[in-house]
Amino acid sequence: MPLFRRAAPQVQVEAKTELAVNRTKRSWFSRIGGILERGKIDEDLWLELEEVLLGADVGVHTSETVLARVRERVENEHLSDAQGVREILKQELMALLSSVPPRGALWGEDVDQPPRPGVILVVGVNGTGKTTSIAKLAHLYRKEGEEVVVAAGDTFRAAAIDQLKTWAERVDVRVVAHREGGDPGAVAFDAIGAAQSDNAAVAIIDTAGRLHTKFNLMEELRKVRRVIERKDPSAPHEVLLVLDATTGQNALLQAKAFAEAVDVTAIALTKLDGTSKGGIIFAICNELHLPVRFVGSGEGEDDLSPFDPEAFVEALFE
Ligand code: GDP
Repeated sequence: MPLFRRAAPQVQVEAKTELAVNRTKRSWFSRIGGILERGKIDEDLWLELEEVLLGADVGVHTSETVLARVRERVENEHLSDAQGVREILKQELMALLSSVPPRGALWGEDVDQPPRPGVILVVGVNGTGKTTSIAKLAHLYRKEGEEVVVAAGDTFRAAAIDQLKTWAERVDVRVVAHREGGDPGAVAFDAIGAAQSDNAAVAIIDTAGRLHTKFNLMEELRKVRRVIERKDPSAPHEVLLVLDATTGQNALLQAKAFAEAVDVTAIALTKLDGTSKGGIIFAICNELHLPVRFVGSGEGEDDLSPFDPEAFVEALFE
């Protein structure tokens, strides 16, 4: 993926990805070697492989889909040595992660000339790592030598505004914030204006992550989206959904709700470093057809990497 080549060179992406999947690998994928060592391809082997995938939270449906494809290929290619299964499993997992076409107008693979400023609407439930991910993303752009404006669009919580301000200072970007209780749409509107006058590469817009009801929250996000469209009819260019990998299958449910409300174009999967359930990423791709664009591997500003399917699967099987 040609995202942030300068800010996050391939070696760094691979190193961060290794850190991110370390727990998932140690707890689950490292067992695959032992399972295949027995040499024989039989029913027990398939059951044990399924246990590994389920343990890593790949989910029943996606595990079955992947293993059915692997089995079919093993049979068609008349493989009798279990070691060959490993390579095919890797290939099928990579294919799954690469199968979701990019949709956003900013990070899509067929985007020649990214819009300037690109407008990124960031959505997700509180606590998933939304604020931190905004700061990390801003930092990636700063490392590319670009100007960035961030918008404190979660006006429902004073703490959210303060937290974003602190991060903005730390990663050296301009922040647009109004008072607590202000109109989130107005914040987004002003931030896009600021990004236009600064010739910034992007305006990254935070949003509320919890309101009294899910319905209210989704309505609020739709409203912010409409205001953004009024300011720039081609925006938002990306709607980035932040999901916490440690919440497992619950993350899938959240993703469904947000995708219905605001047409999500990309996912940032956070806290992979803190879970042995990183297999959720396969379920996200397979069941929601949403592309994972970034993975979080820690709490610092450098701990967000562009997602690389090949590096991800290689690191799991290393
Ligand atoms: P928000 O409520 O969604 O804005 O969440 P925050 O950005 O405040 O993050 C919640 C907590 O998760 C903070 O303690 C972050 O440091 C932590 N966090 C965010 N992303 C990651 C990550 O990728 N890895 C780890 N280990 N912690 C993270």
